[in-house]
Amino acid sequence: MSALNLDRIADLISITPDARVFLERPERQTQMHLAVRGSNGAVVHAEVYVVYHNTARGPAKGGIRMASHVTLSETAELAELMTWKTALVRVPFGGGKSGICIDPAGLDRTTKDAILREYVHLMQLDLRNQAYVPAPDMGTGARDMAIILGETHIPESVTGKPPRIGGLPGRNEATGRGVATATRLTAGNLLKKDLNNMRVAIQGFGNVGSFAALFLHQLGARIVAVSDERGGIFNGDGLDVVRLKTDQADGAELADASDASVITNADLLALDVDILIPAAVGHVLTADNADTVSAGAIVEGANAPTLPAAQEILQEAGIPVVPDILANAGGVIASYAEWQKGKSGSLTEAAETYALVDGLIERAFRRVQALAVEKALPMRLAAWTLSAGEVSETMQDRGWI
Ligand code: NAD
Repeated sequence: MSALNLDRIADLISITPDARVFLERPERQTQMHLAVRGSNGAVVHAEVYVVYHNTARGPAKGGIRMASHVTLSETAELAELMTWKTALVRVPFGGGKSGICIDPAGLDRTTKDAILREYVHLMQLDLRNQAYVPAPDMGTGARDMAIILGETHIPESVTGKPPRIGGLPGRNEATGRGVATATRLTAGNLLKKDLNNMRVAIQGFGNVGSFAALFLHQLGARIVAVSDERGGIFNGDGLDVVRLKTDQADGAELADASDASVITNADLLALDVDILIPAAVGHVLTADNADTVSAGAIVEGANAPTLPAAQEILQEAGIPVVPDILANAGGVIASYAEWQKGKSGSLTEAAETYALVDGLIERAFRRVQALAVEKALPMRLAAWTLSAGEVSETMQDRGWI
C-alpha cells in the first residue's frame, strides 16, 4: 500500500492504471541477516532491510537508518518518501532506503564499523554499480559514510561523507537548513508574518532539529522549546540554542539547561506557538493528539511525523502542514551536489550549499503553494500531486508505461 494516497491524486491528475502498477508497490524489497564479530569477539547480528521504491528518475537514493525499532514496512515507507521528495525538488534520483535493526547507542565504534563493513559486503554489487547511493539517516553520520567509502573506494557511491574525503561542506547541516528555509517561507507565505520573534517549538534536537534551530535563531525566530527522546525544555523568552548545541557536543543533557523548565514531548507538541517542527521520529502526530496541537502551522522536519488521521484533524482545524517531502529535502539536494562532484572533487563552500538548498526548496515551495491555492488543496496533497506527475511523466519518457 502506497504512503501517498493515489486515489486522491487520481482526482487531480491522470495517473494511468499502468503508472499505478509501478507506483503502488516498491520495485525491490530485500531482507538480509548480518552477523559479524564485535570488538569483544562475540557475534553481533541484525536484520537489514533495503528497499528501492522507484528508480525511473535515477539511482535509488536514501539514508541508512540504524535503530532498534526499524522494520521492513518502515523502510519501505521511507524509500517511497524519497521517490516523491527527489521528484518534487527535481534532483535526478529515485527513492531508496536502508534499515539496520540494531541500537547504535549500544555499540562501540569498532563494532559499529564492523557492521557497516559487512553491510557493504552484503550490498557491494548495488553500491559499486550505483543502483543505490546511501547517505546518513537516524543513527548514522558522516564518519559511517567514510567507512562505506573505505570499502568501495568509489567517491560517488555514498554521500554525506566528511568534507575532507569528498563530502560537501554544508551537507551535514543541509536538512536543517532546508527546514529553516521552509519555515521562513511558511511564516511569510502561509501565516503572513515575519519570522522575526516568531515562537517556534522543535521536537528532536539531533541533526535536523538542532541545525534547524540554529538557522532559525540566526533568522530572528525565538526557539521556545526543543526535545530529545528523554523529554524537552521550554523557555517562553527563547532558548539559547547556540549554547545548547555546544553543551550537547560536550555530553550535557537538555534537562541540564539552567534557564529552562522541563516539559514532556507531549507537552511540546501541544505548545501554543507560531510554528511546530516535528524533527525527531515518524508517526508522532496521531488521531489521539492532533487536536491538542495549538501551533499556527506545522513544518515537517522528520519523515512521516503526521499520520493521515492527524492530517485530517489539523486540516479541519485550519492548521497548515508543510510536508516532509518539501520541508526536509535539503539533505538530498546537498547529496545530489556531492554525488555530482564525486569524480571532480569539490571546492564548494558551505554558503554555496546553503544557497543551492534555499533555491531548490524555495522553487518547490512556490510550485506547491501555487497548486494548493489554485485547486484549494492542503500543501501535502499539492506536493504529492506534483511529485506523482513528475514520476509518472518520467516513466513515460523512459517507455516504462
Ligand atoms: P538524529 O538521530 O540525529 O536525531 C533524532 C533526534 O530525535 C534526537 O534528538 C533523538 O533524541 C530524538 N528522538 C528519538 N526518538 C524520539 C522520540 N520518540 N521522541 C522524541 N524525540 C526523539 O536523526 P536526524 O538525522 O536528525 O533525523 C530526524 C528525522 O529527520 C528522521 O525522521 C529522519 O528520517 C529525518 N530526516 C533526516 C535527514 C538527515 O539528513 N539527517 C534528512 C531528511 C529527513
